[in-house]
Amino acid sequence: MPTDSAIQHLYVHVPFCDGKCDYCGFYSVVAHDAARQAYAPLPGRELRAMLDKGTVSQTAAPRTLYIGGGTPGMLADHGLRRLVEGLREAVNLEDVEEWTVELNPATVTPALADTLAILGVNRVSLGAQCFDDDVLRSLGRRHDVKAIVRAMDVLTEAGFQNTGLDLIAGLPGLTTQGWRVSIERALALRVVHLSIYALSLEPDTVLARRVAGGESLPDDEAQLEALSQAETLLAGAGLVRYEISNYARPGWECRHNLACWRGEDYLGLGPAAASRADSRRWTNLADLAGYVGAVTADTAPPRDAETLDASTDATERFVFGLRLYEGVRPDIFAERWPAATSRVGEWHETLTRLGAQGLVEQASHGGWRLTARGRQVADAVMRELV
Ligand code: SF4
Repeated sequence: MPTDSAIQHLYVHVPFCDGKCDYCGFYSVVAHDAARQAYAPLPGRELRAMLDKGTVSQTAAPRTLYIGGGTPGMLADHGLRRLVEGLREAVNLEDVEEWTVELNPATVTPALADTLAILGVNRVSLGAQCFDDDVLRSLGRRHDVKAIVRAMDVLTEAGFQNTGLDLIAGLPGLTTQGWRVSIERALALRVVHLSIYALSLEPDTVLARRVAGGESLPDDEAQLEALSQAETLLAGAGLVRYEISNYARPGWECRHNLACWRGEDYLGLGPAAASRADSRRWTNLADLAGYVGAVTADTAPPRDAETLDASTDATERFVFGLRLYEGVRPDIFAERWPAATSRVGEWHETLTRLGAQGLVEQASHGGWRLTARGRQVADAVMRELV
């Protein structure tokens, strides 16, 4: 298998939660502490095996590291230490500029926050979802509003400045007023980053079954209204919508995610984690037992993998860039990915046409990006360029 140029962005999936939220389509399982601790060293071992076998090259140290889930806090202090030791046995983490850990408010303790700071974590993303206890409970979340506030206090006390919250727009039962309060309370916690996702109905979830049983969800119009309300409130507070679902104070954008949207390669470790390396991409299967068995035997975990032709690969990366407020310029993009050169003229024509329809616009530096109307039909706009 060919090796790639050095991958500078690592993602580690921690596939454990203490229950299942009704809407959640991410891969996570409820497991005993012994199983969670046994998992902790394996992402590092998966990485080491890939390097030893030449599946990927890692001539440069990673610049971003993102530990997500699931609920990474379910590994507790000792498990997180073991996870990081495992990664350090495979690669040098000294040059990581941004090191994010996703946390569930209920798992944040002073000891955990101190451990994260000592390990070198410098960014925390907290899954708040909303600030309404009844709605949180009705969605099967295992935290309440008090826990969000307490978690932020603990993180601030431990010295974390780069903190963000996730909120979900269009939650059933959350009124317009409740949504406004959620955003205002998030802002009051002085986070520098907010991710605002639209609720999506994932198959095989409790919420999907509730809907099949007759429950109705806020319609598209209500969801768009909630997203637009968020944009107005956050813009007023000085947060820039630098990507379709992400807002930050200038200078506090998530570098890991920015790198992925800018088309850079990334390596995902753990079950259900996705990777992109040159024209290859693969996703480890959402199968914890299969992952543990394979990685413990120093073999590759079960995966879905494909190799794209160079033009398709470049097109995918180009289209991703449209998600960003900074936009993407076909000619500059093709300098980085020469396989896109033959498509530059065609993309320019299509973007000009979409611009006339008010779906994209050109920033002052020439980068094309989605307009507010374009964001509402982002998938359709992107399909025009594929
Ligand atoms: S805590 Fe996150 S990953 Fe776990 S079930 Fe809830 S939404 Fe899914």
